[in-house]
Amino acid sequence: MSEVTRTVVVRSERLSRRTFRTFVELEGMYRNLVEQLVLYAVNNNITKFTRLKAERYREVRSLYPQLPSHYAYTACQDAAESTHSFLRMRKMGRTRKPYPEVRSVSIWLDDHLWRAEGLTSINIATHRGRVRVSIELNRHLLRYVNRGWRLASEAKVKLDRRNRRLVLYLAFRKEVSEYKPKGYVTVDVNEDAEAVLIDGIVYLFETGLSRVTLGYYYRRRSVQEKYDSVYGPGSRPERRVLKRLGNNEKALKREIRWKLAALIVREAARRQAAIALERLGREPANHMIERIKDPQLRHRIFQAAFKGIQRAIEEKAREYGVPVIYVDPRNTSKVCPIHGAEIVYGGNRHGVCSRGGETWHRDVVACYNLLLRALGGDGGYAPSRVRATIPVDGGPVPLGPTAAHEPTGVPRALWARWRSLRPIMNEQMIEVKA
Ligand SMILES: [Zn+2]
Repeated sequence: MSEVTRTVVVRSERLSRRTFRTFVELEGMYRNLVEQLVLYAVNNNITKFTRLKAERYREVRSLYPQLPSHYAYTACQDAAESTHSFLRMRKMGRTRKPYPEVRSVSIWLDDHLWRAEGLTSINIATHRGRVRVSIELNRHLLRYVNRGWRLASEAKVKLDRRNRRLVLYLAFRKEVSEYKPKGYVTVDVNEDAEAVLIDGIVYLFETGLSRVTLGYYYRRRSVQEKYDSVYGPGSRPERRVLKRLGNNEKALKREIRWKLAALIVREAARRQAAIALERLGREPANHMIERIKDPQLRHRIFQAAFKGIQRAIEEKAREYGVPVIYVDPRNTSKVCPIHGAEIVYGGNRHGVCSRGGETWHRDVVACYNLLLRALGGDGGYAPSRVRATIPVDGGPVPLGPTAAHEPTGVPRALWARWRSLRPIMNEQMIEVKA
């Protein structure tokens, strides 16, 4: 059994000026608490909530006696968590700032500070007493409520000043148990596609993630150049445009990752299969992004295309109870899964087995070798268990069915509209991308 948590975003109705002012005041006090706590935590290298609370609770509590006492708790949790991630970032050299910046505050609430009243309103404790706020029902919220998720006691609130609303981040939880896998779906992640082996067919789902990252990188650079020459570096309009670009990039990548993860996980669940992923190192050692010199850009591509996709698959898999295993990715595309001999690649993604002479697509090789390793083979000689699952037609390509050594390419525009692989299984043979 494992517990899965999902956050659902809900907006309140437009508040009266007076009510909204209460929350503005609350936010100001809360921000102040967190900022002071973070300062202290960073200076004393504290990342544990319990220690921060033990050392600072009394001071924090006495700062705003009119504030319900549990805000001092949640501010300690909030500060401990942001200190933790800040110190880790700094250790990895990804920030040079002395302290984390608190840009937009979200107020953390626990079970003493808020409660749901039915589905349409919530009640929040403030320094001016309890305030009831009506919320807008949305499809997302109803879906979680109807599918047996339970509302957790913690929540976060942000203020939407422009529309005088609260934005609530509600947590939903569900217990899920993993099934015993009857087989494997293997996933080989590239910069711009994910190769997935399902029922003996390798599907190449185009994601274009590195192109998205690079595209936005160049757009950002040209915006910077243009605005720098007009307004000078770091101007307000420039920052606004850059922020919008950054948000768009993030949202697009998120959508790509989650949609594809959901598709893969649902197919695995339907077959009661486990998902086998490559075990990735901490750093972008992958040879495919070596050509990118800028370390920050490499990091972003790596995160988006490899780590990000894996994380999305892991998260979705937990929700469906699909087991995920990790296998050693070394040389997965270099050795023939049938003969264990080296595959010699030309300038493209096609190679020839040095023993059998058959042609292979790199991603198909990788997917089959991941399967061999998942099944306990060493990727050298195919264990009989796997051979038995692969139809043999006696031809030069031991994988049998004509398309088995060539992946079935699926453009993003297509798979993004699917909820399952049925469309492609019915049609089969969509244009194969080399
Ligand atoms: Zn071979």
